[in-house]
Amino acid sequence: MGSASTPIAAGFKGGSFLIASRRPEEVFTPEDLNDQQRMIARTTIEFIQKEVLPRVADLEDHSQQHRLCRELLRRAGELGLTAVDVPAAYGGLELDKITSLVVAEATGADASFTATMGGHVTIGTLPLVYFGTEEQKARYLPRLATAEMIAAYSLSEATSASDALNCHTKATLSPEGTHYLVNGTKMWTTNGGFADLFTLFAKVDGEKFTAFLVERSTPGLSVGAEEKKMGIRGSSTTPVILEDARVPVENVLGEVGKGHLIAFNILNIGRLKLGASAIGACKALVRESVRWAKERVAFGKPIADFGLIREKLGEMTVRTYIGESITYRTAGLIESLLEGGKANSVDASARILRAIQEYAVECSIAKVFGVEAMDYVTDQAVQIHGGYGYSAEYYVERAYRDSRINRIFEGTDEINRLLIVDMLLKRSLKGELPLISEAQKLMDDILSPQASVSEAKAEDSALGTETGLIEGARKAVLLVAGSAVRKYGKGLPEEQEVIGAVSNMVIEVYAMESGLLRALKDLGRGDGSLNSGPNRGRNSGRNGECGVACEVAQIAVHEGIDRLEIEARRALARIEEGDTLRVQLSVLRRFLKRSPVDVIELKRRVAERAVRLERYPF
Ligand SMILES: Cc1cc2nc3c(=O)[nH]c(=O)nc-3n(C[C@H](O)[C@H](O)[C@H](O)COP(=O)(O)OP(=O)(O)OC[C@H]3O[C@@H](n4cnc5c(N)ncnc54)[C@H](O)[C@@H]3O)c2cc1C
Repeated sequence: MGSASTPIAAGFKGGSFLIASRRPEEVFTPEDLNDQQRMIARTTIEFIQKEVLPRVADLEDHSQQHRLCRELLRRAGELGLTAVDVPAAYGGLELDKITSLVVAEATGADASFTATMGGHVTIGTLPLVYFGTEEQKARYLPRLATAEMIAAYSLSEATSASDALNCHTKATLSPEGTHYLVNGTKMWTTNGGFADLFTLFAKVDGEKFTAFLVERSTPGLSVGAEEKKMGIRGSSTTPVILEDARVPVENVLGEVGKGHLIAFNILNIGRLKLGASAIGACKALVRESVRWAKERVAFGKPIADFGLIREKLGEMTVRTYIGESITYRTAGLIESLLEGGKANSVDASARILRAIQEYAVECSIAKVFGVEAMDYVTDQAVQIHGGYGYSAEYYVERAYRDSRINRIFEGTDEINRLLIVDMLLKRSLKGELPLISEAQKLMDDILSPQASVSEAKAEDSALGTETGLIEGARKAVLLVAGSAVRKYGKGLPEEQEVIGAVSNMVIEVYAMESGLLRALKDLGRGDGSLNSGPNRGRNSGRNGECGVACEVAQIAVHEGIDRLEIEARRALARIEEGDTLRVQLSVLRRFLKRSPVDVIELKRRVAERAVRLERYPF
């Protein structure tokens, strides 16, 4: 089933947000969700609130955990939540990728169950959906779709996880050629304690990195003790031990030696979903925090009335809004490449994979931005709760511990930052994205005697100043990335700090633009649903009647540009020196020239709306 949502223009290259601006109607936003997607979101949220959250303590108790996880997954299966990505031909719902994100977001309020669901529906089941043979799919998918059978993904090992291709688990073909004998130990397998089917990676003959479908009942397979973890204690994490485990040859997934295609493509979609779940968590935490801030009285008034608390609530809302905008924009991009295809066409999986690959940079950004927003939001939620935030009696204490893993799994944030730049440069070198040539043009312009490098234009339209600033930010990325490539060439990978700075700039551009386009789309829709109330008219004039969405976008852009400028200056000071550095810094200043806006006032207004509605206000 394709998305029945607002159509979006297809054909944008992944990463092209760095060289061209988009029109608001060309991005998918959460406001574009259709009735079915909204209904599925409500069903998921209700399930988490009524059936998962009341059982948190039991889920953390290892004597009950495995049984309860299975029961809850089975219940999610009855509601259809574990079947969203499974083709209809194998008993699934085969819904669009946006719906898949809606479910991921809606589970976010409980991070343990998010990990359990993700381990099963995303990294556990999708390898089979995308790479399995018809026979393999028919054998396992119908039971995985209903969660009668539970899946897990075993890639990491004690000495190799970020560096997963360097794994030591070895598979050797048996003399009769019917089985592989697999030996080694996988670490950190989510759902390991009770999963029935493992997508497990091993090297055939110690060389060819390969994926296998390994059933729990396989002779020679055993599962180690549960890890004692800092957070997500309601989820199962175990080693998987293989001692001459006999895996039938027909359980090789994909091709021998092509396991990397499976491992990395699945992580791309896993990253986008993790970003979505993080934003779901942020929404729950904003709600908890505003409720607490309204009720808690200090010095004779609710703490929500204090400027320093309002500032936190405002910023928590801003980061949540931007993360949400990034997530759905990216899902919309992926979906735009899938629309028009027949749901059950044989090449459906291949097309989904191509679409995910196309937007792998955007998926990494969604992960990094989402989980870092969640870390910020959980931290401030604890702070707003004061001493109670440190008590295990309160939701925010657990949320704080639970949040921390997100920067580590599905590719650490460092690995994702490196990947963002690496993938962009590779696409550029392959001629798929004219980044290097655009950077070269810009450098030639700057260095020519008749240099006429324009500064950020304040366009005379709604959020025109901010639109101009994002244009300047794009040029700043090209300036810094271009200088880095010219200076270091093939030695660039040794300059990880510079890559990190460029990556942060890229993330800022996508984040600012995603928020801005969403606010403009909302403004253009003119339904006023988000713009009524006390903020109405605040942005009247050049910004028309744009309320809290435009205020959030303004904050995000002005503070985003401040951060981006710091990254740019830091990187340029490393790359250039003397006169060249002076010229580049002055060009950078022109690109990003701006007058300060009163973000304190803007954040107060955003917080006031959240407090009035007692929730994340979108
Ligand atoms: C609760 C939990 C659940 C998990 N679930 C699963 C699962 O279901 N399946 C699975 O396969 N794995 C799972 N993992 C493993 C997880 O994906 C890895 O822990 C993660 O990828 C990091 O790998 P590592 O622990 O080996 O750290 P390392 O790779 O040793 O990294 C340590 C630090 O070095 C940094 N680093 C590493 N390489 C570089 C580099 N090239 N440049 C710069 N910095 C670098 C990292 O960013 C990190 O900060 C889980 C882990 C946990 C804790």
